[in-house]
Amino acid sequence: MTVYGECFCGAITYTVSGKLRDARSCHCSRCRKAFSSQASAYALVDPTEFKWLTGEEFLTAYIGLNGAGLMFCSTCGSTLCGVFDGQVHGVTLGCVNGDPDIQIDRHIFVGSKATWEVLPEGVVTYEEGPPGL
Ligand SMILES: [Zn+2]
Ligand SMILES: [Zn+2]
Repeated sequence: MTVYGECFCGAITYTVSGKLRDARSCHCSRCRKAFSSQASAYALVDPTEFKWLTGEEFLTAYIGLNGAGLMFCSTCGSTLCGVFDGQVHGVTLGCVNGDPDIQIDRHIFVGSKATWEVLPEGVVTYEEGPPGL
């Protein structure tokens, strides 16, 4: 399947010519800041299957000391993808269009979630990371 995504203003669009993997929502304090939200909503991609379609010149990035970071639209501020060592590592699910045929199957670091967040019933949660990660 092909997945399409775009930022809020529509200047930047991308495609993933394969399946998204390992959709997760992380509730740690760092992800709350990075995603400006109660948690992240993120899925991994195969870097070779990811391609920018339009607006690559509007991208800006914040890269941390460990080589991991995020890329944003410099016009509207949408966070589009995560990068690691210069390659796209995953996409933010909020910028994916339509049905990417994947569901968030784990809510991680709920032990440090914001006091104001109420978790939905029935979701799979881990106080920290899931075992084996
Ligand atoms: Zn934009
Ligand atoms: Zn996190």
